Amino acid sequence: MADDFWNKPRPGSLEAVAIGCTCPIFDNNRGAGTDDDGGWDVSYGCPVHWPRTAEPAEKES
Ligand SMILES: [Zn+2]
Repeated sequence: MADDFWNKPRPGSLEAVAIGCTCPIFDNNRGAGTDDDGGWDVSYGCPVHWPRTAEPAEKES
């Protein structure tokens, strides 16, 4: 599904940060993944990892 994601440096890794990633470095253990679930914590609006088509979680009206 999200092939794009796997073609990029992991969130929080030095490689990702070098190309503009704004995801948490420490929370992601520098790209190794979070301690919680083995996934990654992606920052809202990260230019590298935030999906282009993603919608805001909540919309104020
Ligand atoms: Zn990122």
